[in-house]
Amino acid sequence: MEGILLFILFALTTGSFMYMLVCTDSNSRTPMGMIRRKIYTSGPSITKKLLGDKIFVKLQQFYNYVFYTNNRLGQIAYFVIFWVAFGLYGKFGLLKHFGNTPYVSHIHSVCGSLIFMFCNYFFYRTCTTSPGIITKENNDEYVKQFEQYYDEVQYKQNTSCSTCNIIKPARSKHCRICNICVSRFDHHCIWVRQCIGQKNYKYFLLFLFTHIFLSLYGVVAGILCLFGIAQKQQLFKLTYKNAVTGEIHPATFFRVFTVISNRETFFVFIIFVCLIFFVTLTAFFLYHLNMIRKDLTTNERIRKNDFEKSFLNEMYELQEQQKRKKDDDSIKRLAQLKQCWNSLNKKRVQGLYEGLRIVFSQPN
Ligand SMILES: [Zn+2]
Ligand SMILES: [Zn+2]
Repeated sequence: MEGILLFILFALTTGSFMYMLVCTDSNSRTPMGMIRRKIYTSGPSITKKLLGDKIFVKLQQFYNYVFYTNNRLGQIAYFVIFWVAFGLYGKFGLLKHFGNTPYVSHIHSVCGSLIFMFCNYFFYRTCTTSPGIITKENNDEYVKQFEQYYDEVQYKQNTSCSTCNIIKPARSKHCRICNICVSRFDHHCIWVRQCIGQKNYKYFLLFLFTHIFLSLYGVVAGILCLFGIAQKQQLFKLTYKNAVTGEIHPATFFRVFTVISNRETFFVFIIFVCLIFFVTLTAFFLYHLNMIRKDLTTNERIRKNDFEKSFLNEMYELQEQQKRKKDDDSIKRLAQLKQCWNSLNKKRVQGLYEGLRIVFSQPN
């Protein structure tokens, strides 16, 4: 029982941490939002104090290189992590225990390997499918397609991208790293070394989903294997002597788990790695499903927060000013800001099913 509780605790901790880093709004007033802000604001200064100016500058340069240049480090890191993890699972779990324990037969070796191939395939498709590049030739088409999203706050009609020399369609963004304007821009993903936009969003979701499925498969098959090993070695029938009191205790889940962890250390470790992948990717995937339900992109969520923050500041200042003296200009501006606020917060929940249907009906 303690083993299961430890597992759940571990999963919750990892999940919350990843949720905090990836999905929490930077302006959110929840405890998660506060911790995130603390990490982002105090993190650099603490690192600077701990490591000294020279190393800090070098680290900052490396950080900028990794996240703000078009390099292959993310793709290489993905391959190393993913293939090494699968290799380790193969060596210490699949080849050693699958088929040798009562609950996991060799059919699962085949299924697991097939899902692994799917993961690689969707990674490849996400990397190689264009996100929807806006050029002079297709500019009008994109402007028309997203016309209804011009709200004159986030997206203003007839503004142009000075680099690409095109009219910006609503929901698009110029990616500084790829140096292109992307239709329905979501975010730039360093793992696939390109933007996630209107046309490759579906592959990105399938990429996440297949990896979640594989890691969950690894965790479940792994736990069943461990359970099978424990039964085969009759660990549940053993009794344990307390070294201090000399009392004899029957086997508990936690004790059996400890014995198995000592005997199958690498296998248990790799199951933990699968669990971390599962929890992290699921948090990220659920976040995206929620965004699809609300018909929002990651870029819009971040921009919306920034707009709201500046509106609130200006509204507060105008209200303070009006307490001292009411003039026409400030009344007008306040009304304008309230209108902008309403336009920005106009609910456009489209529902998950409809959202997914639109995402998956986009041609390549
Ligand atoms: Zn552009
Ligand atoms: Zn990009």
